[in-house]
Formats: sequence, structure tokens, C-alpha cells
Amino acid sequence: GLADSLVAMLRETVERFGDREALVELGGERLTYRELWRRAARVAGGLRSAGISRGDRVANLLPAGVDWVLAFLGTQLAGAVAVPVNTRLAPPEVDYVLADSGAAFTFRPGTALPDGEPFAVDDLSREEVSAIFYTSGTTGRPKGAMTTHENFLSNVENVCRVKGIDPETGWQTRNLVSVPLFHVTGCNTQLLLQLSYGGATVVMPKFDVRQFLRTIAQERISLFTTVPAIYALALKQPDFGEFDTSSVRHLSYGGAPMAPALVERIKAAFPQARVGNSYGLTETSSITTFLPHEHSVEHADSVGFPAPVIDVALHEPDPNTGVGELLVRGPNVVAGYWNKPEATGSTFVDGWLHTGDLARIAGNGLVHLVDRAKDVINRGGENVYSVEVENALAAVPGVVEAAVVGVPDDVMGEKVGAVIVADEEFDTEQLLGHLAEQLADFKIPQFLHLSDRPLPRNPGGKLLKRDLRNTSTWRGPLWGR
Ligand code: ATP
Repeated sequence: GLADSLVAMLRETVERFGDREALVELGGERLTYRELWRRAARVAGGLRSAGISRGDRVANLLPAGVDWVLAFLGTQLAGAVAVPVNTRLAPPEVDYVLADSGAAFTFRPGTALPDGEPFAVDDLSREEVSAIFYTSGTTGRPKGAMTTHENFLSNVENVCRVKGIDPETGWQTRNLVSVPLFHVTGCNTQLLLQLSYGGATVVMPKFDVRQFLRTIAQERISLFTTVPAIYALALKQPDFGEFDTSSVRHLSYGGAPMAPALVERIKAAFPQARVGNSYGLTETSSITTFLPHEHSVEHADSVGFPAPVIDVALHEPDPNTGVGELLVRGPNVVAGYWNKPEATGSTFVDGWLHTGDLARIAGNGLVHLVDRAKDVINRGGENVYSVEVENALAAVPGVVEAAVVGVPDDVMGEKVGAVIVADEEFDTEQLLGHLAEQLADFKIPQFLHLSDRPLPRNPGGKLLKRDLRNTSTWRGPLWGR
């Protein structure tokens, strides 16, 4: 379908698949496409009666569930701009997003959805802003990415093509969303994807790993996209093999670096599924590159090939290593940051998005992310990519989780520090031996912090390295260096 907006896309789906199941909230309601449209249109009518008009920002502070989706779609049908808010933010951070976006209305828990005469705008154009998604704020204050209808629709098309989902038969699929709906991986690449071809979306108001595994069987889930941390948690369940996951056909991981050591285990755990790595940003409306099933083990250190109609390039690659900042161009790249002309000017340059991720592009076209530019450790002029060291650590017996950050040093500027969550099998004395097989001398962590609790992550599964830099009590220097 070549719809011009999310509203037109949904209208077409409702016409074709009105009686099919559209949305399931675990422990809550189940809605068909016809009901979904009818109720979203009432929300839109309620928003209009409350004075909301075209282009107004409407913030959404609801937890994941039927009401979240009705709020998002109701905002679209009203012709307004949805501002999904991270529900885990602290009150001052929420206030920041509400003020920055200039929200004229906010959906909040405990208040009934607005209700009015059904309304659906019918003349939206592809260029209009449909939503403002705030970035995770991993590296600073969250920035509002202005996502147009075109951005959403091109992402949906990209996802179908990279995963090999035929939009004609997509109505048979059932997607379980285990990541937040307020980020692009949950909203664009799962919910909106399903709405584009009439598939079902199952949402979990609260994540629980055992409920996630049970739901796969109960709801006959055929696809999902989630973060590496959730795969690690799922595979750690001692009775994983007793959960029936045979309905799963497509699964992908992304949002944070995936340790190659985990990929083979995922493939073995879901033998009937196509498995892929997807790399994306809020600023690219989700999918940017995709590593397909056929390459997922052999090239587990890569995020794959650019998605269709997306160009990638490197900004000023280092002549020796080939590493440079990854640039992206295409119909999925957002229109800029809301209310931030300076950040927009420095990030969106001559039509290219500067991702802040450092990468190499191999001769075969595969993109290899090496690190976020802000996480690279500069050890006396030598660059150490934290992700490479984390991947080496992940393969060491007894390491459950590992994060690598710079430790300030008077002489070297920074030295390499590792925060490790370990089980009984771990042995500090043997760590050097394991790492020396895989890493050059200067990359081996000299500082260690053994953490007795899980590493701090945001709801998108990203490590909060800022917090680790500030709170770790380092043991070292180790190995007499
Ligand atoms: P902020 O810009 O506010 O710090 P953020 O960049 O963390 O927030 P997102 O847009 O949610 O916000 O995250 C995008 C980043 O996530 C990418 O730039 C990349 O570093 C990382 N990422 C996403 N997918 C993958 C993947 N498959 N492998 C490795 N890293 C990934």
C-alpha cells in the first residue's frame, strides 16, 4: 500500500481486516481493527472538543497497553503530533519533555481518555510531522526527533523488506512487544508494522521474562524485536526448553550492541526462526541497517547491510583503521530536532544524519559498529573501543554482564576499566589469560569493579555508562601494570 499518512494506512487496513484481531493487552482487553478505529476516532473527537487542532503536540504518559495505542492513534486521527514520553523518567525530566515539546494536552494514567464524536482527518501529507520521539538521553538531554508520516511509512516498508515479510500475508503474523512503546523499536518497528498489513500486536504493560516466554506459546507469537539484555535473561531461565516457542518465525535484536557469543545460543534456542540484527536510531525512525539470518552467525560482529533506499557513508574515516562516524541518508531520516536549531544544524548536515556511532564498512558492504563516539576510551592516544572489550569479556567463563569505561589517569589520560557481574565460575586470576588470547595488550582492562547487582540500563536496554563512570569503586591497577 502506498498510503500518504499513518491515518490513511490504518484506514486501508481497517477496510480490509476489520474483523481481525488488532491489539491485545496482556491481562486486559482484545480489540479488532474495527473496534480499534472506532475507539481511536472517539479519542480524536474528544481531543478536538478539548481544543486540540492540527499540529498541536499531545503528550502520552500512559503505560504500554490498549489506552496507550488509542492515545497515539487518536492523536493521529485528530491531525495532531504525538509525543510519547518515557514513563520511567523522574518528574523533573518529564516536566522537561512536556515543556520542551510545548504539549497542549497530556494523556495521564488514572484519567479517562477524551471522548467525543468520531473524527478522522483525511488530508494529511507525507511531509507533515506525525510524532516527536525523544531520544533515550544516553549521552545527554533527550532531543525530540520530528518524525513525519513519510518517515514512519518508509520504516514500515524497510522492515517488511529486510525481514522478508510479504505485506499481502502479513495479517497472519502476531507480534509480541516487550520493549517500550515510547521508543521507536516498540512503536515503529512493531506496532505500526503490524497495523500496516493487519497483523496482531500483543503488548505487555509490565515486562516479566517468564510471562514473556509463556505468552509466546499462549498467543502463538510469530515475531518480535527486542534488546540483547532480554535475550540474555530469557536464555538464563533454567527451564527455557520447556516453553513452547515453536510459533516464532522472525526475531531480531538491536538497540544496543549484541555480544557475538550470544547469537549462536539464540539461533539454537529458536531453531525455526529467522534471526537478524537490526541497528537504528530515534533519528532514523528505527531500522537503518539489518544483518539477515544467513549472515547472523558468521558476521555476528556486524549490524548488517543498509536497509532499502538508505545510503550510508563514513565521515572522515581514519586512513589506517577505516573507522569514521557513520552517516545516514534516506526517507526514514527525521526532519530534525524539535526546538533545537543548533543541534539540528550540527547533526543533520547537507542531507546526512551524523549518527554519533563509529563504524567501518567492509568491502562486502557490511557495516561494523565499533563504538559510540562518546564511549571510546583514549588510552594515551591509543583508541580502545569499549564494545570490543565488552564482547571479549562476554566470552569469558563466569561473566554474566560486562561494561567497559575509561578510568581517569594522570599520565595516560584514561585507562580501561571493566565493571563485571559474575557468577561462581568467574575467576579473576584467570581473566588475564582469557583476554590475552583475544585482545591486544593495551585494550586489556587494568581496573576492575565486581558488581553484585545487574548493570544499570535504561528501558531500551542501553548501558548507562555515565552512572558506571561515577559510581564504580575500582580495584587496580591489576596485572602489575
Ligand atoms: P541520546 O542521543 O539522547 O544519547 P540514544 O542515542 O541512546 O540517545 P536511541 O536513538 O534510542 O537514543 O539509540 C540509538 C543508538 O543505539 C545508536 O546510535 C547505537 O549506538 C545504539 N544501537 C542501536 N541498535 C544497535 C545495534 N543493533 N547494535 C549496536 N548498537 C545499537
